Amino acid sequence: MNYRITLIPGDGIGPEVTDAARLVAEATGVSIDWDVVDAGERAIRATGSPLPESVLESIRRNRVALKGPITTPIGSGFRSVNVALRQQLDLYASVRPARAIAGEGTRFPETDLLVVREATEGLYSGVEHWVDRDHSAAETVNIITRKASDRIIKFAFERARRDHRKHVTAVHKANIMKTTGALFQTAFREMAPKYPDLLADERLIDNMCMQLVKKPEEYEVIVTTNLFGDILSDLCAGLAGGLGVAPGALYGETMAVFEPVHGSAPKYAGQDKADPVAEILCLELLLRHLGETEAADRVFRAVWETIHEKKVVTYDLALPGYTQRPVPPSSCSAMAKEIARKVPVVDLDAPLPTYRPPTPTAIDPSLEGA
Ligand code: NAD
Repeated sequence: MNYRITLIPGDGIGPEVTDAARLVAEATGVSIDWDVVDAGERAIRATGSPLPESVLESIRRNRVALKGPITTPIGSGFRSVNVALRQQLDLYASVRPARAIAGEGTRFPETDLLVVREATEGLYSGVEHWVDRDHSAAETVNIITRKASDRIIKFAFERARRDHRKHVTAVHKANIMKTTGALFQTAFREMAPKYPDLLADERLIDNMCMQLVKKPEEYEVIVTTNLFGDILSDLCAGLAGGLGVAPGALYGETMAVFEPVHGSAPKYAGQDKADPVAEILCLELLLRHLGETEAADRVFRAVWETIHEKKVVTYDLALPGYTQRPVPPSSCSAMAKEIARKVPVVDLDAPLPTYRPPTPTAIDPSLEGA
């Protein structure tokens, strides 16, 4: 089967990491015809708009897109392209898997959870204004609707079932946000009984952050509103090995866009230095979405083996803490080539190489009995 898929290279490190993902896609043998369109800085230069209608049309036509990160100019008139894309295509569910993949650099090797974030409303609705002429007070409106809450909570329960996960946790701040928080909480409490096979519980956002950095392995699916989800998904990316290895997906009723959690990292743009893994794992999620399960399994395993061999890894995975012995960092393109080389030859039946904790330092004998 030949797939036509929208590709948005994006800004900063985006073109490098999406090139890496394309190389790996080729190695899978799945036939993909990329419909390349520009959004972000290149689109502003060419058309005056960071999100030209042609980009939206391409995604509506192809229904699936792979996207690089896009820079959001701070304080300028342009709204975030990422937020606009989610709202205009009604990509309401942002799903960010946090799987500990980065070996010794992962403090919590058992982390394997999904953050399911409502992506169209909440504090990202874009309704904000200065209250006075002196700009000494401002308001941002937190829009939470029952319809969007029901939709994302149902998505999270269904996704848990599909992925054979047993536990769904709603995160809110209903003790302080007595209307918006309570609305989300009520929607969760009324949906949970429809899924009696799943454990449903709730955490306040502050407590959730503390729980996650203590025992992330106790959580499987977290469902929450837009801002809390944004923050928690970066937190979980850190638990699972860092932004360089954290993929994400946006789902609507009929469309899906796959994009890494990380941004455009402008300081590394054009240096062939960025970690391509997050974008390559977006490709893995995209292949799963297409039903190309074996190709997706091959991509995941090739990434995993490359990271665990630690011969050809980018600077972030070569840092002390990720390795017990120093490794010279490789370039983005070299790591992508190594992953692509492995894709057709990995043995899908072999056990996955696993994390080995560092050998404990021997006790100084002079201290024994002290
Ligand atoms: P960022 O994720 O771009 O970078 C933060 C730091 O993380 C970098 O300085 C770098 O040290 C590290 N990092 C990120 N990606 C990496 C990779 N692939 N390999 C190695 N290291 C990596 O976050 P930021 O600096 O806050 O944002 C930069 C721009 O990206 C902003 O304009 C922001 O709005 C935008 N952004 C876009 C998206 C998106 O397109 N979905 C997401 C987040 C941020």
